[in-house]
Amino acid sequence: MPMNDTTRHQGKRRQLVQVVKEKGITDQNVLLAIGKIPRHLFMDSSFEDHAYQDKAFPIAADQTISQPYTVAFQSQLLQIKKGDQVLEIGTGSGYQTAVLCELGARVYSIERQQELYKKTKLFLSKLNYRPKFLSFGDGYKGLPAYAPFDSIIVTAGAPFVPKALLSQLKVGGRLVIPVGENSQIMTLFIRVSTSKFEKKEFGEFRFVPLLEDKN
Ligand code: SAH
Repeated sequence: MPMNDTTRHQGKRRQLVQVVKEKGITDQNVLLAIGKIPRHLFMDSSFEDHAYQDKAFPIAADQTISQPYTVAFQSQLLQIKKGDQVLEIGTGSGYQTAVLCELGARVYSIERQQELYKKTKLFLSKLNYRPKFLSFGDGYKGLPAYAPFDSIIVTAGAPFVPKALLSQLKVGGRLVIPVGENSQIMTLFIRVSTSKFEKKEFGEFRFVPLLEDKN
């Protein structure tokens, strides 16, 4: 069970759920997940006061833990069913990974910063979250060995849509990806047949960049 998760934290979390709901999130399972996950433990304890505000926040290696509303928005677009095989690009703090686990997905996640990869792997297991596989590597390539996926979520701003990710979707599968350089348009691709994708756009968001492989 979560370390140091008090009734005060739980109270703040209920308020955060309310805020996210008022901003338009309707998926009950997503709201339950936000209400359940101790977000303050995903951040440095000296910044605990910020954990239940609806804001992104810096974590290690110049990266950020995404804003709760953004996490909820992307999660809702995925329409996850229990047992779905889901790929996340950008493990980061592991908060989004935890949401996907709470939604009953079999989660695969890739992180390119080794420090974060190691730290988050250990931390998620301490919190009893059990993603199927955490990978240290380049998300642009996806995870061909575990494809195809029911859905893929990219949690960094992609300058373009990586072909590998589209090709690793099942027919009927969904890719949720923020596309753009300085700011991003949240974009959903649904694979309607082997060769055809339907595209929908959902307004502007801001993410740290999806970076090309260092090696
Ligand atoms: N899902 C995270 C969001 C972290 S921010 C959370 O909830 O906290 C985006 C993350 O994407 C960063 O950790 C960054 O290191 C990672 N990232 C950037 N480019 C990447 C790439 N090419 N492959 C894998 N991860 C990448």
